[in-house]
Amino acid sequence: MDYDIVIKGGILVDGTGNPWIRADVGVRNGKIVKVGRIEGKADVLIRAEGMLVAPGFIDIHSHDDLIFFRDVYNKPKLLQGVTTVVMGNCGLSPAPLSRETVDDLKAYLSILCEDVELNWRSYGDFLSKLEEIQPLGTNVLGLVGHGTVRIAVMGMDARDPSEEELEEMKELISLSMKEGAYGMSTGLIYPPGAYAKTEEIIELAKVVAKFGGIYSSHIRNEGRQLIEAVSEAIRIGEESGVPVEISHHKAAGKKNWGKTEETLRMIEEARQRGIEVTADAYPYSAGSTYLAALLPPWAHEGGVEKLIERMKSREEREKIRKAMEEGEEWENMVRETGWDRVVLSYSPSFSEFEGKSLFEISKQLETDPYDLLFSILEKDGTNSMIIIHSMSEEDVTRVISHPYVMIGTDGLDIGVGKPHPRTYGTFPRVIRRFVREKRVLTIEEAIRKMTSMPAHKLGLKQKGLIREGYDADIVVLSQNILDQATYSNPRVPPKGIEFVIVNGVLSVERGKLLERGGRVLWSRWIGLSYA
Ligand SMILES: [Zn+2]
Repeated sequence: MDYDIVIKGGILVDGTGNPWIRADVGVRNGKIVKVGRIEGKADVLIRAEGMLVAPGFIDIHSHDDLIFFRDVYNKPKLLQGVTTVVMGNCGLSPAPLSRETVDDLKAYLSILCEDVELNWRSYGDFLSKLEEIQPLGTNVLGLVGHGTVRIAVMGMDARDPSEEELEEMKELISLSMKEGAYGMSTGLIYPPGAYAKTEEIIELAKVVAKFGGIYSSHIRNEGRQLIEAVSEAIRIGEESGVPVEISHHKAAGKKNWGKTEETLRMIEEARQRGIEVTADAYPYSAGSTYLAALLPPWAHEGGVEKLIERMKSREEREKIRKAMEEGEEWENMVRETGWDRVVLSYSPSFSEFEGKSLFEISKQLETDPYDLLFSILEKDGTNSMIIIHSMSEEDVTRVISHPYVMIGTDGLDIGVGKPHPRTYGTFPRVIRRFVREKRVLTIEEAIRKMTSMPAHKLGLKQKGLIREGYDADIVVLSQNILDQATYSNPRVPPKGIEFVIVNGVLSVERGKLLERGGRVLWSRWIGLSYA
């Protein structure tokens, strides 16, 4: 046979942003070996007349670090055409860890997986464990989480690091980069990331910059202090030299709607000054996080056991309530958005209320929403999750359609509660809603945001384009693609993802899972010893 797979007669949207052309694509030994008119014989012939042929999607913002241990296909992503995921976002990665603080890390990671067996230590160890279960459904590459590194060195302490502790963190980040990470992430609303000052992040980002890695940040505030938080991210890029990726960019809370006009302008201006800043977004006007994120950061000091203790004390409850009613110096989501827009999406001890807002639940239980919140946290610790309807459609549209913004799901389904529909629907929804319905993006531009743009940012030389010599990560999709996941019924894969090929392996055929071809991608500076 001349080819393993030939895709014939499709409309090729090659990932560059260029206008589509009609071309066949030939695959052999995991690579794209021919683009053009193909006459040769193939083991598998895919007739793609009338369908779009594009590079497999790259999910620049995922939390799939531990998902492969429970769902080796990474089904929700693979079924929407994703062939590579970037894990380790929002400051949260499963490695490196230290024996003394492993319990703090476990509590911190509980939102990634309910039962985590952390049987590794360094970042490289962790990647090796993933490699043991290869082939995976999708390719995966990782960022090292600043929160994770801080826990390894300082536990859940709410203070600045000493000089030695800062050195130790730098060392761990350097080691993680050498052992395969593509960069570092922060989650500056989540303790312990929230306890770090800008200067600490700059020092650590310098280490990442030396390798050529990226810095992805869930910035310090997406509401009232959104502008200041974007400034901080840009400053970190400017002073450390690291390329910046602003994660799931948004303006949260009604009073802040419209602010993305200014933040996008800030990104443009920073780039004009030579600072490498980009952003990503998912196509929904609701976000999702863990319920405990509603509390002021200091309420998390000392870790989850301490948090639960505070929830049991009437005095502490009063202190926290007061901070939530008045506090503006942290991202106070309830004050910005309102109890009626915060929906409980997963709670082990209040599961019968999943899908309802905290306002509705408190009415039903004849309690006030603060006491409800504290009672759930007292029982669930950091396990329960929320969906928070905090954004405006105008901001979402403005951000998604901006040329410097790529697409990331931020979605995760660990099999409990009602996860955010972005987990199953993000990429198809961008095409359905913003290309077909709102017409604010061309199909070529939308595909670029999903493929070559993230590949370019990450330095992936073999992915993100349909080009001879590139890895055969390919998706064949119907022009009538339809996301079907909703808030009430989130676990529905899209319609119209016809074929997905991962490293030359046909992995999805019309919604049916076939073989796996995904691999762990190790950063290219493996073995280098900068810093
Ligand atoms: Zn985040």
